[in-house]
Amino acid sequence: MNHRQMLEWERLSRRYDENAIPLYLSYPVESFWKQKSSVGQHNQSLRSAVVSFLYFHFPYCREICHYCMCYKEPLQNDSELDLYLDYLIRDMDIRLEVLLENGWEGAAHMHWGGGTPTLLNENQLETIHRAITERQLINTDRSHEHSIEAFPDPQIVTLPKLELLKSLGFNVISFGIQDFDRRIQKVINREHDPGAVRELIAMAKQVGFRVHVDLCYGLPFQGISELEDTIQKVLPAAPGRICIFPYVHAPMVFPRQNIIPRSSIPNSFIKVLMAERADRLLVGEGYTRLGLDHYISGDDPFLNDLKANGSKTLMGYSQDDKLNYIGFGATAISFFDKSFYRTVASIKDYCQMIDAGQLPVELERSYRHNDDDHIRNKLIQDHILTRFEIDITKFGNEFDIDFNSYFEKERETLEQFAREGLVDLSDPEVIRVTRTGQFFSRHIAHQFDRFYSHKSIQ
Ligand code: SF4
Repeated sequence: MNHRQMLEWERLSRRYDENAIPLYLSYPVESFWKQKSSVGQHNQSLRSAVVSFLYFHFPYCREICHYCMCYKEPLQNDSELDLYLDYLIRDMDIRLEVLLENGWEGAAHMHWGGGTPTLLNENQLETIHRAITERQLINTDRSHEHSIEAFPDPQIVTLPKLELLKSLGFNVISFGIQDFDRRIQKVINREHDPGAVRELIAMAKQVGFRVHVDLCYGLPFQGISELEDTIQKVLPAAPGRICIFPYVHAPMVFPRQNIIPRSSIPNSFIKVLMAERADRLLVGEGYTRLGLDHYISGDDPFLNDLKANGSKTLMGYSQDDKLNYIGFGATAISFFDKSFYRTVASIKDYCQMIDAGQLPVELERSYRHNDDDHIRNKLIQDHILTRFEIDITKFGNEFDIDFNSYFEKERETLEQFAREGLVDLSDPEVIRVTRTGQFFSRHIAHQFDRFYSHKSIQ
């Protein structure tokens, strides 16, 4: 990037501050899920949906990272996990009863996240997995992806544990690295050694896993060179996917982040330069960019499907653009029959509701897509934030709308984005987000979000 481009990116990042825009993990964003539902409505939706993906949340961690943006609790002793697994199994039974009413044949895909699911010891892993398979919640007859998040510590992820997970049918393991710089690791309370992590990745590959890694940009005291150094240390391990997420400093929502000095957080200009540098490095190494934050290697079995039909979901990108999923465990989110449901957030409430024989879901905080939400969800998540382009006629035909008149108001803003080089409107049939625009694409998506009132950008 030359000096003139850098000045332009600085201007753009002041005008389009990425810290001021939601991450768009969902549309609408979770703070707008305020519709009241009922057990009857929830169950009716569940009966009518074809659920093909299951998420299991394990909310315990050995130590809490100061930057963490997930729901988690510090693990005091192993018996807490045993107790939690017991409730997780009962949660499955509550929902399974409904699922079976429509002859459901099990899901093909499954992901275990947290927290730290790899804290489970071998017995616990076998117990919970047996509970899932005995209930025929997963169906391995079809091609399937069973993935698990892992803390990259060789004391936690041992060879016997990896072998057990593989024998249970897991084929993807995702290591959360974030950054290898010692000072940053100390500030965020998450320390691991690059050499040990690379050995762990090699061991997981040897056992037969496809390995993904998560990195983070915008961390305290992190600059472009720290991020670049981390990427250079990760590349020799050749992970199949590298996901680079932005750190969100929101101590009002995540109070533990108060430990992090606010002025150590890079500003939005530095963050956007970091994302751009990471992109150049990884694309230069042969990875294909998918959407905002995923880089996929050429030997990934789903690369072509994701490029053609990839759909952005709460759990990343899926090759199924009509994905229905159920989230089991405290705070897990479900989406089926165009509706979001969130499982109660605290472990205590989760257990109490299950003890009372209730569906452990926050029924007053659900959200059902109407037709307009459905169209905007697809436009924002799958087109603007995943494939960075919209084929106007195809999109219009898919949803039975005239694109240009349906989005007449947004069109004015797109023209402003085009004048700033963020979108390319030279082809009347296709709206393309330019390479520069890809680093500001959440702002482009935001203009199509009906939950925020916008003034046209001047
Ligand atoms: S970042 Fe991961 S390991 Fe760290 S506290 Fe959060 S959930 Fe636990």
